[in-house]
Amino acid sequence: MFRPAADLHTHTVASTHAYSTVTENCRAAHELGLAAVAMTDHAPGMPDAPHVWHFVNLKVLPRKICGVYLLKGIEADITDYKGNLDVSDDLLSTLEWTVVSLHSQAIAPGSIENHTAAYLGVCENKWVDVIGHPTTTKYRFDMEKCVKCFKESGKLIEINESSIISGKSKPETVLELLRICKRYEAPIVVNTDAHYCGLIGRTDNASALLEAAGFPERLIYNSEWERIREHIIKKHGDIGL
Ligand SMILES: [Zn+2]
Ligand SMILES: [Zn+2]
Repeated sequence: MFRPAADLHTHTVASTHAYSTVTENCRAAHELGLAAVAMTDHAPGMPDAPHVWHFVNLKVLPRKICGVYLLKGIEADITDYKGNLDVSDDLLSTLEWTVVSLHSQAIAPGSIENHTAAYLGVCENKWVDVIGHPTTTKYRFDMEKCVKCFKESGKLIEINESSIISGKSKPETVLELLRICKRYEAPIVVNTDAHYCGLIGRTDNASALLEAAGFPERLIYNSEWERIREHIIKKHGDIGL
């Protein structure tokens, strides 16, 4: 069964509805043999987001905790149907990993056309790495159109374990997205979106769906640490990975 080499969407106590510290998350990742964790707490558009200083000050954290590389990131919110975010490009340019998501606290669900337009707008933002939990039922979108655009603009399409466990994403929607990604050879990333250290790196439900879809491992971005490392160095230069 597929196991990620790095968990690239996780939360810490800095988002108040998450329950573990960055050190606890990294220790859990180390115990599972993961190479890296991306710390991606909520951006200011969410009610439980940390103050913006949280993101500005991430530089004080070491590159490695408990032997695991720490990527200093954010989960930004899409705030309109043009794909604008609640974080400035200036701040994003200082971070190492950016997930962007549609959350009802930051944007009311609209039509399929609205969500599609928002995602197409996000493709224009060069700082965005991952489209977070795009399979949630509230935010259906034109998968074919967006997957092509995500691929062309280098955005990774997330298969999100927490969203499957909570029922916010239906297995059939995840399978539909996987089929389209496979057809267009579009890379995905399999993350937990863990809000507790015991959930870091554990993607059993997502992995079962990958298997059901016959999804090729070569299209799973976080199946190999070396690939992630090279990609980040290309984007951010030598940051000590
Ligand atoms: Zn989210
Ligand atoms: Zn999240």
